[in-house]
Amino acid sequence: MPFSPAPSAAAEAALAGARPVPFWLDDPRRPAPRPPLRGTARTDLAVVGGGYTGLWTALRAKERDPGRDVLLVEGASTGWAASGRNGGFVSASLTHGRSNGERHLPREVDRLDELGRENLDGIEAAAARYDWDCAWERPGSLTVATEPHQVEELRGQEGFLDAAAVRAEVDSPTYLAGLREEHDTALVNPAHLVWELRRTCLELGVRLVEGTPVRRLTSDASAVRLHTDHGVVTADAVALGTNVFPSLLKRYRLHTVPVYDYVLVTRPLTAAELRSIGWANRQGLDDMFNQFHYYRLTADDRILFGGYDAVYHYGRSLSAAHDQRAESFRTLAAHLEQTFPQLAGVPFTHAWGGAIDTCTRFFPFFGTAAGGRVASVAGFTGLGVGMTRFAADVMLDLLGGEATERTQLELVRSTPLPFPPEPLAWAGITLTTKALVRADHRQGRRGPWLAALDAAGVGFDS
Ligand SMILES: Cc1cc2nc3c(=O)[nH]c(=O)nc-3n(C[C@H](O)[C@H](O)[C@H](O)COP(=O)(O)OP(=O)(O)OC[C@H]3O[C@@H](n4cnc5c(N)ncnc54)[C@H](O)[C@@H]3O)c2cc1C
Repeated sequence: MPFSPAPSAAAEAALAGARPVPFWLDDPRRPAPRPPLRGTARTDLAVVGGGYTGLWTALRAKERDPGRDVLLVEGASTGWAASGRNGGFVSASLTHGRSNGERHLPREVDRLDELGRENLDGIEAAAARYDWDCAWERPGSLTVATEPHQVEELRGQEGFLDAAAVRAEVDSPTYLAGLREEHDTALVNPAHLVWELRRTCLELGVRLVEGTPVRRLTSDASAVRLHTDHGVVTADAVALGTNVFPSLLKRYRLHTVPVYDYVLVTRPLTAAELRSIGWANRQGLDDMFNQFHYYRLTADDRILFGGYDAVYHYGRSLSAAHDQRAESFRTLAAHLEQTFPQLAGVPFTHAWGGAIDTCTRFFPFFGTAAGGRVASVAGFTGLGVGMTRFAADVMLDLLGGEATERTQLELVRSTPLPFPPEPLAWAGITLTTKALVRADHRQGRRGPWLAALDAAGVGFDS
């Protein structure tokens, strides 16, 4: 049994005062939204979606051609969705981890790893160039094994740490071994990153309208049009960064499902509490279950602890009501207490959830429409903080119409299998979730259902 689900009375009590909002967005730096679009607008490039994808697309478009007019259209407010509520792990991987890349793109994975590192360096360089105040740090990662079969998976790999060595880094009685990686993971305050991207876009002359959902996209020989409640945008080119929300290109609506992921944040640890767990190198941590946890320190030494449950609601349902899930918060509180008994009773200040755009291969796919005048991306599957910048460049390359190294990648040219419509999506995801939990309780043995999915090259993850 990997973890016990039942929280102690102390863990239950620690949850009592948690605010039901994302820690990162509960911040006086949150900018007031810009007014919505009223009437018509004309632009060279319209970008839909004010998360990292849309903002990087607008920013990179201005960097490539400062004279190009760019209009960013956000349905609610910049960064309210995944980009403002994630764990803040910025990974170099463009393929949701090396082994997933090896499975889907064996011929390309080495080059993708290089491009992914360049992309992470590019984010770091932009943060320095534009002087972003976003708590950027690059401590690398530590993957911990808490089951004997997981130790065997790690043994022999570069960066392997035995139990004593991993506990010298971060001291949990549950750790049996670990794998240290020093360059490929950065940590950031995700909301500060999104708001600094927004600031720089505005400084470079990007026009921004918020509170402006795009209801429909049409095109004819002369232009592409975005239809909103109170106006129409006419554009030469359009980039879609709408993530988990229904794609404006109907052909991609079955390619993703929303999966809810949950997160807790503690109050800042005292110096004595921090000493009791070590963690002097501040690595981003994760463990090795199918239902994995991810955890990190914030700039003010809180612990952010998330993951484990990955919840799909029938009918691809997206709702603010799903952002709170007491059962998942209790489970996470119990698991944090089992991981660090030294911290029993430390209160949580924030508890929230958010929707992830899972696709069957776990890394994003690209599309074009209207004769190459519309580009889209979706399917980041829980690893988009870094990848969104790369995706922005791909969309701009696709809209540019000239082949580039990026547009020739199999990653860009191939599309994952879609999920089925309901009720099959619900049935398949429920079956798969149960099989993944079972495998976690059986030393990782995957069973016939998961073996069949593996053979078909499809899966379910967060
Ligand atoms: C709880 C949680 C934890 C995560 N942790 C991590 C992590 O640690 N590391 C990592 O790499 N990734 C993580 N992710 C995933 C990561 O946050 C996303 O992949 C990334 O933020 C995607 O950015 P985006 O701009 O594509 O999407 P979003 O941030 O979701 O932005 C999309 C925007 O499009 C707007 N929009 C949608 N449809 C329309 C429309 N029709 N008209 C106008 N606007 C529209 C929405 O309002 C929204 O603002 C996590 C996600 C969640 C939910």
